[in-house]
Amino acid sequence: MNFDGAKNVDHSDPLVDVLNSGGQGRVVLLCEHASRWIPDEHDGLGLDAEGLTSHAAWDLGALELSIALAKALDGVLVTSKASRLVYDCNRPPEDPGAMRDQSELISVPGNIDLSQEDRDARIRSVYEPFCSAVDGVLDKRSSDTVVVTVHTFTPVYFGKYRSVEIGLLHDDDSRLVDAMLTHTDKLPGVIVARNEPYGPQDGVTHSLKIHAGRRGLPNVMIEIRNDLVRSAKQVEQVAQQILALLLPALEQIESKDTFNE
Ligand SMILES: [Zn+2]
Repeated sequence: MNFDGAKNVDHSDPLVDVLNSGGQGRVVLLCEHASRWIPDEHDGLGLDAEGLTSHAAWDLGALELSIALAKALDGVLVTSKASRLVYDCNRPPEDPGAMRDQSELISVPGNIDLSQEDRDARIRSVYEPFCSAVDGVLDKRSSDTVVVTVHTFTPVYFGKYRSVEIGLLHDDDSRLVDAMLTHTDKLPGVIVARNEPYGPQDGVTHSLKIHAGRRGLPNVMIEIRNDLVRSAKQVEQVAQQILALLLPALEQIESKDTFNE
């Protein structure tokens, strides 16, 4: 699953991709945890094979789902190409979670006692280019732009099963999530929840705040349980479920703004 033709992907930074950069849709998609790639210089952060492929290193299925949504919406998609264990682009530099040395049950030896110099180098090589790429996309857009970040979560966390299937997360601006939640009747049997399995109190709304909130753009962070996006067929199914909530919500937001003018 890929956008056809290299001209649609801006590879100008080694650690960020901008896919479908000429997309004309209202929605701009962000996928901070798209990749589990750890650049060679970090020597795998000392992780074993299990750690390198676990949900600690990336959001399984999130890139494929983001691409499916970008295609359906003709949306620009900005993805980080480095594992979130190198730098978590959904966290500000001062957050201990930006370069965590422990993720659920997995210890990350290469992140223990990082020097300020090492931290600064990762901020410069991963976080700042990601933010610049998002700024580069959003600064050119009109005020009807909507920001959607795409994530997945593990079904079992610290031994506890999570029944929620689609989480719709927001911070101060709940416009888009409020509108999406009015359409859950279109997804019978699917467990959709607000600010689950994480919420603003967990520090996961950084991208929403700095990229969308600051610009006054409606936004949502979508969290999908990752057992639901393991195959291409599942990814397409979940993409359709999200669209069933998102597309009518976009129209509601549009009509509200028009009404207020
Ligand atoms: Zn994530």
